[in-house]
Amino acid sequence: MIEFRNVSKQYSPDAMALRDVSFTVEKGELVFLAGPSGAGKSTLLKMIAAMERPSAGQVIVNGQDIAKIKSSAVPFLRRNLGLIFQQQRLLTDRNILANVMMPLLVTGASRHQAEQRARAALDKVGLLDRADSQPLALSGGEQQRVSIARAIVNRPQVILADEPTANLDRASANKVLDALKAFHSVGVTCLISSHDEQMLDAAARVIHLKHGQLEVAA
Ligand code: ADP
Ligand code: ADP
Repeated sequence: MIEFRNVSKQYSPDAMALRDVSFTVEKGELVFLAGPSGAGKSTLLKMIAAMERPSAGQVIVNGQDIAKIKSSAVPFLRRNLGLIFQQQRLLTDRNILANVMMPLLVTGASRHQAEQRARAALDKVGLLDRADSQPLALSGGEQQRVSIARAIVNRPQVILADEPTANLDRASANKVLDALKAFHSVGVTCLISSHDEQMLDAAARVIHLKHGQLEVAA
């Protein structure tokens, strides 16, 4: 489903973010991407969504080579990906339900259908009772769970979550991870990055990155 073949990413002559990284993620896998800040985790996840392109090597997602994909095909690629990135905060000018409905309305769903699906997605992350709340009235962990609901409302095959538990206390972080794992348990492929070794699930596969290199070929 996702394959990195000898991938390197160089942002500038002295900024080598990834070096010769190779691994495969099968459909339905739950994979943690571990490593200290600056190790290259965000860069790796961004490449899967064609937000960055490799300087060398190949990134294959659903059989497509990211380096060769036309920019007009990128929206279709991303439709199969649920993205939870720090840059994509919730919109504070509308309530939780409207935030989660947005991806559906953008792809042409009716308001009625979008609302039903958004409520179902909020229910799955345990926040249906906050549908009418404003984002800033929620805790950091709750906001992150809303971001998960927004990311999965289009039923993507893959979830990419970049440091979804950063800045959360342990209890909130565990709820966020439980919400992600619930989607894994219904067959969604999940890649979750974290710089916090304590957040890694002992039962799950872990890919360790350090200075842009794979530490243990998992
Ligand atoms: P992580 O997510 O593990 O913290 P990143 O992928 O964000 O790591 O960064 C890996 C390295 O690439 C770091 O040294 C970072 O400074 C550098 N880097 C990331 N994005 C850019 C960019 N847009 N331009 C230049 N350097 C970057
Ligand atoms: P509905 O059919 O009304 O959307 P479901 O209970 O079947 O209700 O699904 C609830 C929500 O779960 C969906 O709207 C969607 O947001 C989310 N979801 C995302 N991916 C999946 C998946 N692979 N399997 C099941 N549910 C998913």
